[in-house]
Amino acid sequence: GSCFAHVQQAPEDPILGITVAFNKDPSPVKVNLGVGAYRTEDGKPLLLNVVRQAELHLVSDESRNKEYLGITGIVHFNKLSAQLILGSDSPAIAENRVVTAQCLSGTGSLRVGGEFLGRHYSGQKIIYVPSPTWGNHLKIFPLAGLEARTYRYYDPRTKGLDYEGMLEDLRAAPNGSILLLHACAHNPTGVDPSQEQWEGIRRVVREEKQFLPFFDCAYQGFASGSLDNDAWAVRRFVGDGGEVFVAQSYAKNMGLYAERVGALSIIVKEPAVATRVESQLKLVIRPMYSTPPTHGASIVTLILSSKKWFEEWKEELKAMADRIRSMRHELFNALKERQTPGNWEHILNQIGMFTFTGLSKEQVEYMRREDHIYMTLDGRISMAGLNSRTVPQVADAIHRAVV
Ligand code: PLP
Repeated sequence: GSCFAHVQQAPEDPILGITVAFNKDPSPVKVNLGVGAYRTEDGKPLLLNVVRQAELHLVSDESRNKEYLGITGIVHFNKLSAQLILGSDSPAIAENRVVTAQCLSGTGSLRVGGEFLGRHYSGQKIIYVPSPTWGNHLKIFPLAGLEARTYRYYDPRTKGLDYEGMLEDLRAAPNGSILLLHACAHNPTGVDPSQEQWEGIRRVVREEKQFLPFFDCAYQGFASGSLDNDAWAVRRFVGDGGEVFVAQSYAKNMGLYAERVGALSIIVKEPAVATRVESQLKLVIRPMYSTPPTHGASIVTLILSSKKWFEEWKEELKAMADRIRSMRHELFNALKERQTPGNWEHILNQIGMFTFTGLSKEQVEYMRREDHIYMTLDGRISMAGLNSRTVPQVADAIHRAVV
């Protein structure tokens, strides 16, 4: 018999499993609002024009080779990534207090950061993540040796931030814990703190609790359409001189999902500490995957280092963010026209790729069964998956599910 006969069938990943179910559905009118990936007005994946240009440049450059990169990846990529999130005038970068490693997109950056903390963090090896959060957080950090706990974040009654509940939970957490924060465009809720609320959170982190903030930045540029605006919170926390971890992903903002390009930056207080942290970070990465891949990071490096391509990228990024925002207005207006019961203002107010609709699990299942519209069971819909053709269809379905 097989040594593996006892292996149990595992459930599908709750998010990737939606696409599996969607692909099996033969209906010609089916709509997938489950996956957090940008789609054009025609419902197609988008390869950014700057990315195509950079790739053409790469393949035609005969001086290139496929030698191994160093353990922390492309040095220039790391520098440019740190500048992108911290600002090109960041004192922390100028003072050599930032260690950056090219990692396997956002997920890999979180995992490497988690592993490093599991081994070397001198505070509490407990990481507080928002409730709800991107489901993978709760799986990544325990595997890295951190205990994961949640803090209140979303208030279903207001469909906004539970700011008071959040601060209460943070104050009740052990001093020196790690605090995971979504840098912008919180997934799945689309609810971000205001700048004033960020300041309140920062004061609790720095002055009351000595937490280590770990920012997950998967949507820089996608929230507001501006790379700088979306980095505001991270820059405030780095600007006060305290220590910060930040995981960056180029999956969404450059449409490089499958290339797995991201970066982990660790900002510390002294250059000498940064040097030692980097040496240990290499020992974390080497036995995991040895060295990162070169193609995607080369694309990013070209785009970030060419003034012309950087400007083009910002335009394409803004166009994606704008289309998502216009879908918010179209869906909101369509529900208003139908006089669908309930207040749908949160569709306009929430930020980034997703709307946390407030639809119940039963309503979500009803829409899947009756209307072939797919979303996560928590009622999260990807606004990027909508277009002018599908908005009326989705609004009809929501209306039927609600009434
Ligand atoms: N963090 C958040 C909040 C996300 O929503 C995602 C992707 O959906 C990621 C991290 C990681 O994505 P990737 O590993 O593809 O960069």
